Amino acid sequence: MKEANSILSGYGTTIFTVMSALAAEHGSINLGQGFPDVDGPEDIRRAAADALMAGPNQYPPMLGIPELRRAVAEHGKRFYGLEVDWRSQVMVTSGATEALADCLLGLIEPGDEVVLIEPLYDSYLPMVRRAGGVPKMVRMEPPDWALPRDALARAFSDKTKLILLNSPHNPSGKVFTADELAFIAGLVEKHDAYAVCDEVYEHLVFDGRPHVPLITLPGMGERCLKIGSAGKTFSMTGWKLGYVTAAPELLTAAAKAHQFITFTTPPNLQQGGAYGLAKEDAYFHGLAADMQAKRDLLSEGLVQAGFKVLPSAGTYFLTVDIRSVGFNGTDEEFCRHITTDAGVTAVPMSAFYQGGEVDHFARFCVCKNDDLLREGAARLQRHFA
Ligand code: PMP
Ligand code: GLN
Repeated sequence: MKEANSILSGYGTTIFTVMSALAAEHGSINLGQGFPDVDGPEDIRRAAADALMAGPNQYPPMLGIPELRRAVAEHGKRFYGLEVDWRSQVMVTSGATEALADCLLGLIEPGDEVVLIEPLYDSYLPMVRRAGGVPKMVRMEPPDWALPRDALARAFSDKTKLILLNSPHNPSGKVFTADELAFIAGLVEKHDAYAVCDEVYEHLVFDGRPHVPLITLPGMGERCLKIGSAGKTFSMTGWKLGYVTAAPELLTAAAKAHQFITFTTPPNLQQGGAYGLAKEDAYFHGLAADMQAKRDLLSEGLVQAGFKVLPSAGTYFLTVDIRSVGFNGTDEEFCRHITTDAGVTAVPMSAFYQGGEVDHFARFCVCKNDDLLREGAARLQRHFA
C-alpha cells in the first residue's frame, strides 16, 4: 500500500480525545477536554430547532446566510466598534477549526514563514505544515507566560506571511495586553504580514477587562482575519459554527479554501447563531461572570488541595504547577495518575509544546457544574493529603 500523507500521518490522536477516553474508561471527573457540561441557552437552541423544522434545509449561500453574516458584523460593531460590510467581509464556517484551516490554506504559499506562539492549540501546526508553511516558533512559558519580544521580533522576517495569534489564550488563560498587541501589530506592519486571530474566547475575559481584537488597532483592518466561535460564545461546542471577519481581499482568499473544504455550514445552526449574536449585552456579560465564578471556585479548591495555581484572565482553563503537591514525574504521568488514582482528569501542558522543558504543569477546565468542580478539588485534596 502507498503511504498516507507524511505530515498528517505523523500525528497521533489529539490529547483532548486521548484524555477524554481515559476519563471515560476510569469514570473520572473530566476536567481535561474543554467543553461545558450543560448546553447553552434554550432560546438559542429553540431558534435553531425552529429553523430546522421550518427549513429550508438545502445548501445555504457559500459565505453563510445573510442573517448570520449581518449579525456577526453588528456584533463586531456593538462590542468593538468595528465597521465592516457583511457582504464582503464576513464568512461563516463549520467551527473556528475550519476557519483556521481556511485562513491558513487560503493564504500560505509553500515556503512562506508563519510565526506561531507556544504553547499552541493542537490544530495550528499540522495545518500550517500541510499548507507548506515554515513554522517559526516563539515560546511563552509558565508561570508568567510573558511574550518574549526580542524572540518574537527575530521570528519575523521578510518571508513572514502571517502570525497566528490566540487571545484569550488556550491553554494558558493569558489575555494579551494592549501593549503586547501594539507590539505585534508593529511587527505585522513592518514585515508586510497578516495576522490570523483566533478569538474563540472573546466573551470569556474576566475581572472586568475588555477583549481587544488585534483587527481594531491602527493599520490592522487590512491585515487581520478575526475568528469567532458560536460553540464557545453560546456554550455549545458541538455546533461547530464559526465566523471570519476580514478585509474583502483576505476574506476572498479564505473563502477559496472554504468552498472546497465544507462549502457551507448547516443552515439551522446559522439561524441559531444569528439569533444568539443579537442577544442583549446582559447575556454576554453573564457568560463571562459565570465562568469567572467557576474559575474562582476551582482555583480555591485546587489551592486548598495544595496546588500552586497560576492566574487565568480568560478562557475555560486554569493551570497548576504539579510539583507544588510533591509530584515529581512528568505532567503526562501526573494526568494519567490523577485519572486512575484520584478520579480527576486534566491535560498535560507539554502537549501544547513541541518538546522542551515545560513538563510539570497541567491544565484544568473550569466550565463544569459547581458541584463537580468542588468534588474534583476535594478528590485531589484527599489524594495529595
Ligand atoms: N481555537 C482554540 C484556541 C480553541 O480552544 C478551540 C476550541 N476547541 C478552537 C479553536 C476550535 O473551535 P471550534 O470548536 O469552533 O472549531
Ligand atoms: N478546545 C478544547 C480544548 O482545548 C477541545 C477541542 C477539541 O477537543 N478538539 O480542550
